[in-house]
Amino acid sequence: MPRVACDVTVIGAGPAGCLCALFLVRSGLRVRLLACPSARPRPAEVLAPAALRALRSAGIELSEFGLDALTCNRVGSQWASGPSYYFDYQLYACEAALNVDRIRLDSALCGQARTAGAEVVNGTAKHVIRKVGGGWSVHAACDSIATYWDTRFVVDATGKSAANPVAQERTYVDRLIALHSRCQVRENDGTLLLEAAPDGWWYVSNCPNGLAHVVFVTDADVLPKSRLERAAWLQAQFRHSVFVSRSLVGTPAFARHRGCDARSSHNATFAVQGFLSVGDAAWSNDPLSGSGVLLAAEGAARAAKAIQASLIAHDESPLSEYAAWCRNKFTTMQTSRSAVYRQAAPGPWHSAFWARRGVGGAPRPGPMRLQSLDGPHADA
Ligand SMILES: Cc1cc2nc3c(=O)[nH]c(=O)nc-3n(C[C@H](O)[C@H](O)[C@H](O)COP(=O)(O)OP(=O)(O)OC[C@H]3O[C@@H](n4cnc5c(N)ncnc54)[C@H](O)[C@@H]3O)c2cc1C
Repeated sequence: MPRVACDVTVIGAGPAGCLCALFLVRSGLRVRLLACPSARPRPAEVLAPAALRALRSAGIELSEFGLDALTCNRVGSQWASGPSYYFDYQLYACEAALNVDRIRLDSALCGQARTAGAEVVNGTAKHVIRKVGGGWSVHAACDSIATYWDTRFVVDATGKSAANPVAQERTYVDRLIALHSRCQVRENDGTLLLEAAPDGWWYVSNCPNGLAHVVFVTDADVLPKSRLERAAWLQAQFRHSVFVSRSLVGTPAFARHRGCDARSSHNATFAVQGFLSVGDAAWSNDPLSGSGVLLAAEGAARAAKAIQASLIAHDESPLSEYAAWCRNKFTTMQTSRSAVYRQAAPGPWHSAFWARRGVGGAPRPGPMRLQSLDGPHADA
């Protein structure tokens, strides 16, 4: 069986993995990036001006990649009580946000890492085993062939996937799931829409061809089990919508909805000698923040510096600093997320979803029972 040695193996070619690989290879380290891009369609994501600046400072100008990204000028929300509220990106950040297809964005970032000198291997990591005496052995399936190689350092950039090849335990702090459907929009004016609903919240982002992704974010345990019942339940939630529904032509295709994991969670280990997790693999945040790609880019830059210090200068203290940054950032984001949820005024509804978030006056429930999305609510 082939064995390949490299300094760093980065597992996962999302924004965090690609950028971390790019930064590491620029510092002269031999990097292998293991990529198994998801073939599943996923909702377009909005890169806020801060995310675009972070990419630019890494030498990446998205306009050069022909991503067909749509301009997102503003966010319109019906979140708190009172009139709807608009936040204009150009007014406050001097730059519009971009609505990007994530599969194309990831592929462009992976191309950047490859061009810079990272060895990109298509495959899925199965297990990562620490070797006696230091270093790791990575076991992967590459083009269905079992492959093993040694590496000095492993970066887990696998996102918040439950099947973690590094066998890290994960702590989940909520049960969020995002259900996305498609619908035609009345007018594509580059506005991302947000609205509170009885059992969750909606967001609508434009995509090409006059269509929009209509996403409902809720707790997985309040969802009906069967696809048919879920479609009817989404329809019932949609009937309460005023703000989002008036921007759409008709009703979204709820019968064809797809679900994706949107839970906030963190890994047991952020960084130790020879191992580090980055992006959503380290910690993932509520999609309400809209800052996942920005935080992935920020984390990748910090992670790469810590790994360079460890492998080149044999200084492990930046790894501890990186771990402290992850811990602090996760805690801060959780605090601000609670504050944002508490500002919501979800009408007269007293649902479990809002009660858990301190809205609606109902008592907070006891400890959460966590549920895997590999179960009945996974993509079907
Ligand atoms: C509903 C929803 C909406 C969101 N909207 C936004 C938004 O508008 N703007 C924003 O900035 N962020 C948004 N986010 C957050 C954003 O998607 C994430 O924060 C971001 O994708 C994190 O990047 P990552 O590289 O860490 O992980 P990922 O993007 O999840 O990438 C992980 C990669 O690792 C691969 N992988 C997994 N396991 C293995 C393995 N064993 N071997 C090899 N490869 C593997 C996966 O296939 C994937 O390619 C949203 C999230 C959700 C859930």
